[in-house]
Amino acid sequence: MLELDELRRQYPDFVRGKVSVRCLSGWRELVERALDEVIAAGLPPAEFELLEVREKFGRLRISALTPAGRRDIARIFILAGLRSQFACEQCGETGKSLQSSDGWRLCRCERHAAECPVPLSPVRPILQVEMPDGVWRFDRTRDQLVIVGSPTDG
Ligand SMILES: [Zn+2]
Repeated sequence: MLELDELRRQYPDFVRGKVSVRCLSGWRELVERALDEVIAAGLPPAEFELLEVREKFGRLRISALTPAGRRDIARIFILAGLRSQFACEQCGETGKSLQSSDGWRLCRCERHAAECPVPLSPVRPILQVEMPDGVWRFDRTRDQLVIVGSPTDG
């Protein structure tokens, strides 16, 4: 499991209070990158409260309280979630989005997929997300979100 105490030691200003952490340690690097990006964006720690780091529907989900206008910060966590579809949750190596025969989604490298007790089949990763300011697509080559459309109305 990814250890909250380690994150606290690494990011004492940004990881405070009660944070729920429920994912495997393979995604540690993605969580660290996201926190590094929050710091690089110049957000003061007082305006940031990390709430939750977890696996949900096979993706990394990071929830935090951030200032309402900071869409750049919201995008950092969206990006982390999209990146997690290509990193094994167990070891962090290159992985694939998979679905188990009983309906669970997960991301695993070949080795860890082979160790899984239930049969897995590949699923298409989600690459595009709609946010209030537009439709963003994960460009894997550039490893960033690029805007590809306007938000749909109503
Ligand atoms: Zn693995």
